[in-house]
Amino acid sequence: MNMLIQQVQMVNEEGKIVETDIKIADGKIAEIGNQLATEGFEIIEGKGLLVSPGFIDVHVHLREPGGEHKETIQTGTHSAAKGGYTTICPMPNTRPVPDTKENLEKINTLIKANAKIRVLPYASITIREAGKERTNLSELKEHGAFAFTDDGVGVQEAGMMYEAMQDAAKIDMAIVAHCEDNTLIYGGAMHEGKRNKELGLPGIPSIAESVHIARDILLAEAAGAHYHVCHVSTKESVRVIRDAKRAGIHVTGEVSPHHLLLTEDDVPGYDADWKMNPPLRAIEDREALREGLMDGTLDCIATDHAPHTADEKAVGIAKAPFGITGFETAFPLLYTNFVKPGYWTLKQLLDWMTVKPAEVFNLPYGKLEVGAEADLVLLDLEKQQTIDRTTFVSKGKNTPFDGVECAGWPVMTIFGGNIVWKDGQ
Ligand SMILES: [Zn+2]
Repeated sequence: MNMLIQQVQMVNEEGKIVETDIKIADGKIAEIGNQLATEGFEIIEGKGLLVSPGFIDVHVHLREPGGEHKETIQTGTHSAAKGGYTTICPMPNTRPVPDTKENLEKINTLIKANAKIRVLPYASITIREAGKERTNLSELKEHGAFAFTDDGVGVQEAGMMYEAMQDAAKIDMAIVAHCEDNTLIYGGAMHEGKRNKELGLPGIPSIAESVHIARDILLAEAAGAHYHVCHVSTKESVRVIRDAKRAGIHVTGEVSPHHLLLTEDDVPGYDADWKMNPPLRAIEDREALREGLMDGTLDCIATDHAPHTADEKAVGIAKAPFGITGFETAFPLLYTNFVKPGYWTLKQLLDWMTVKPAEVFNLPYGKLEVGAEADLVLLDLEKQQTIDRTTFVSKGKNTPFDGVECAGWPVMTIFGGNIVWKDGQ
């Protein structure tokens, strides 16, 4: 569909908000400027709205195949579109795991049939993510793997990780790591700190994460690989990533909205909607994550959207699975808590959700320019609305943010020149 978005606000390269028209033809951005000719174009009234490149989320769980009771590619991409996302990268902890070209092909077929937006699937580093036998990275690359990770679990053996990094470096692909040393988890359900003791729950110490990152950074240096750290949560992790960047090692990192916003002190009790991995850490950790994002130690924001059913979460924080949903709350939460009070500029937030993740993985998306894919989100920054989990289009209603009032809501998402989500429809 050819369309013309009229009189919409756009953040320019200098971070200034300017009014413009945007013309979309044949799925691409055809023209950006004022008072563009309207003939032959469907008009979209942009007045009072802000346009951004569609958001990019490099860390999501769509659960299909194998976990369709939690989420499907159809419901997950619908939820992402509602949150303003047009490119997402699902983790390989599905059943089957995309660990062979055949299993990856199965997932590609499901994506082709069901996805509403661009879905770039990860493939695993080891067979069944079991950590025992490596996958064929170049074959998986040929069949469309976005990058390689065993997310959900850490790769326990240094040698396994080192060899995977050497292979990945040869084919110019990233190794992406959920960092967790199994010998340091101690059956924890939340952060090992103050709050877990008050609640009498076993804790996951920060070193479970940071030790793996420190190890992997040295392996990445030796292998000459691009190493990307998932959901960084501790101050020690930020420090070792900062040092590694200073040393010229090719390491990048992502941080989630919930780790930027919440701490262990916010966990109200035994409600499993506050249980995620890595857990909400101490206030010093949250401050370090905020600093890390500001100084470029951390590169981008990723939700780690991790839907589970209400029944699975109802068993309480000690036993329930880890994870919370993220697509439908990310932008309003971050805009309301960081941009509105003036801690971040609007450009910083948008960059961390668009062009920065694209740069980390060399994706040709996340920019508003002539010739680019017409992947856009229109946002109403004035709109006030309370987060209501019952309105989520994701199957997962598991969020600690239910009932929180936010400003800044997506009202329309356009992917490849087509409207894939519109408020009220
Ligand atoms: Zn993870």
